[in-house]
Amino acid sequence: MTLSRRDFLISSAATSFASLAPGVHAAGNGQPDVIVIGAGLSGLETALTLEESGFKVLVLEGRRRIGGRLYTLFDLPGHPEAGGNTVSNAYGRTLAAAQRNGVEIVNLAPRTSGNRAGQALFIGDEHVPLADWAAHPRNPFTGDQRKLPPWGWAAAIFQQHMPFKDLANWHDAAHAQHDISVHDFLSAQGATDAQIRLGYDTNIAYGTTAHDVSLLQQASANHWQAVNRSAATTDFLLGACKGGNQNLPIAMARRLKGDLLQGKRVAAIEADATGAVVRCADGSRHSAKAVVCSMPFSTLRNVTIDPLPSALQHKAIQTLGYLPITQFHLLAKKPFWETDGLSPSMWTDGPLGMVLAQRFGRSDSEVTSLTVWCRGLNGLSIDRFDVEESKRMILDEFARLRPASKGLLTVGAVHSWTADPFAAGSWAIFQPGQVRELRAAMAMPHQRLFFCGEHTALGSRGFEGAFESAERVSLEVLTALG
Ligand SMILES: Cc1cc2nc3c(=O)[nH]c(=O)nc-3n(C[C@H](O)[C@H](O)[C@H](O)COP(=O)(O)OP(=O)(O)OC[C@H]3O[C@@H](n4cnc5c(N)ncnc54)[C@H](O)[C@@H]3O)c2cc1C
Repeated sequence: MTLSRRDFLISSAATSFASLAPGVHAAGNGQPDVIVIGAGLSGLETALTLEESGFKVLVLEGRRRIGGRLYTLFDLPGHPEAGGNTVSNAYGRTLAAAQRNGVEIVNLAPRTSGNRAGQALFIGDEHVPLADWAAHPRNPFTGDQRKLPPWGWAAAIFQQHMPFKDLANWHDAAHAQHDISVHDFLSAQGATDAQIRLGYDTNIAYGTTAHDVSLLQQASANHWQAVNRSAATTDFLLGACKGGNQNLPIAMARRLKGDLLQGKRVAAIEADATGAVVRCADGSRHSAKAVVCSMPFSTLRNVTIDPLPSALQHKAIQTLGYLPITQFHLLAKKPFWETDGLSPSMWTDGPLGMVLAQRFGRSDSEVTSLTVWCRGLNGLSIDRFDVEESKRMILDEFARLRPASKGLLTVGAVHSWTADPFAAGSWAIFQPGQVRELRAAMAMPHQRLFFCGEHTALGSRGFEGAFESAERVSLEVLTALG
């Protein structure tokens, strides 16, 4: 489903100033009150909230699609996600937004349980049945930890040894002494480099290696997982939008009254105490009483901001870390996993990284595609090759590990979030020392320039973090503009 420019013109034309309630903030001269940069979840939610308060809002989006890091591959079987995957029980704002926008949430838990329980472990070139892992010569762990699969090792250490209990306040100054690298923390628990490499760096969820991830970043993630687990009263929800997660931002965009202009790559922002001007790479210039920027810092760092924000905010924009991810979406001509008898989902310590079977068919078990997740250094390394070469490498590696797949797989889509100029990474990562030094300054309003986006959320992450940040920034703008 795509949203055409015509959709917006129709929805804009349907709104006249005469229909707005008294006390509205619509500018009479066609100029918006507020410009929102970015049509991902946080930007769209901010725009809708401000419109509900009577402001005239213009949304500028650099891409020629809506949704930002929600990106559904609508042209592949089952509509797999290249971006945000699932929401869970504590995603209250997201679930409410889906309802408000008429988007149904379906629970994928029955479809994905097979992936989590049954992923095949490949170490080196070899398939290692989980039952054999504890005694396997390539198992680097010691004692009881040898029984843990590599993907469960670090989680067990965080569970037992996180040095503070108050994880919800991971960003509080009281925990500043824990703003150290995950590597230093794991080493202090007695872990060796080989253990950390396999148990944390391989298929990493934050950063590129344990050296560039703050323990406080990990605490925030652990907190969010725990909140979601404890919010599950009956079923654990692994929710997704019916037909694809991008349907949510598309539905939100349809509800906008004002214009959403696509293909508007923002190149410069000037702000003062009374308003702000946005300049786009196509030469256009847009002004308003306030600008809300939802761009990730990984792309904002290429935008000129005049005057420069405070030294700490500037440093945060320039240096905040982002997790590299490159995905390959594979289609199978035949279910080769029925031939070799292994799960189609895999966890490897090689170039394939993690392979997750997508089950969006008629039954819960039907596999519609396979997603290869190359994360961290693995993602950076595959990005060095041109796309055709990288596709060949992935298929060759698959055939090497799973000879039964030879000739049966094709690549339906590739997406490097790192190389994507409008993302430059998948999600924000606080590096050691950054929570203590930079976090508080990150989202501070700068003149009439305001900031939202998942990277600025405190209590939640991902989709929900985007909505949390929209709530905060909307209040800031309402307060500033009155
Ligand atoms: C592979 C992947 C898997 C994920 N899985 C999950 C998950 O399972 N659960 C979960 O909760 N979260 C997940 N996330 C994270 C979640 O998708 C994001 O946190 C959320 O979508 C971010 O929303 P946002 O509005 O903050 O940013 P974005 O969606 O990135 O919105 C920012 C917008 O700004 C635009 N922009 C950037 N630069 C410019 C520019 N120069 N000019 C104009 N516009 C610009 C972008 O195009 C984009 O539309 C995942 C993300 C990825 C990449």
